[in-house]
Amino acid sequence: MAVTARAIPMLSDNYSWLLTDSVSGKVGIVDPAEAAPAIAALETAGLGLDFIFLTHHHNDHTDGVPELVARYQPVVVGNQADAHRLPKLDRPVYEGALVDFGGAKLRVIEVPGHTLGHIAYYIADGGILLPGDTLFSLGCGRLFEGSAAQMYASLHKFDDLPDETLVCCGHEYTESNAKFALAMDPENTALQARAAEVKALRAAGQPTLPVTLGMERATNPFLRAPDAEAFAKLRTAKDNF
Ligand code: ZN
Ligand code: FE
Repeated sequence: MAVTARAIPMLSDNYSWLLTDSVSGKVGIVDPAEAAPAIAALETAGLGLDFIFLTHHHNDHTDGVPELVARYQPVVVGNQADAHRLPKLDRPVYEGALVDFGGAKLRVIEVPGHTLGHIAYYIADGGILLPGDTLFSLGCGRLFEGSAAQMYASLHKFDDLPDETLVCCGHEYTESNAKFALAMDPENTALQARAAEVKALRAAGQPTLPVTLGMERATNPFLRAPDAEAFAKLRTAKDNF
């Protein structure tokens, strides 16, 4: 596995992800909400910064970009369709684009729903999915711009990815998501076990991420919704939970 991902906590519950390619030594940061924690993580590891990968335009995913650009001059990657509301992009991308990350490739997957211009990145060489605010552990992103049908379709664009895929989400929402998931699916033993694990991890101050896609397929009510209508009802129920 050439590329590895490590969570950098930011703000109250955001995760930025530090990507390193062991073959080329290239370094990337995904969705820096703040510059200072990213700089601290890079300095501690003795690393520079070659890339910033953005999933969507919200401030809690982009506010750290200007300071990191000024300090490291990384290549900034984001959706060309959202170029007007993202920090200045050096590499505008679109569905199916392959971004070369020191030999490893990040594949761009357009996932409208949370925002219309939201993209995810998949790194086969490392088995890493960076879904931003599209897929959370035991939950999914709120529908700020897209429809439930769009979000349902977006989540199912991950269907061809392996169960072992490490899902590196944009927020630590798992513990509160677990309460809703258990209310919807109380008999699910895999979910019960995951909820207990999550509770223990959070009590110990540990992140609940990354989580495998296989675990999410077994436990996440939004991935388990049988169709777009059921998904829409679930999303509305969660908004009012
Ligand atoms: Zn967002
Ligand atoms: Fe967010």
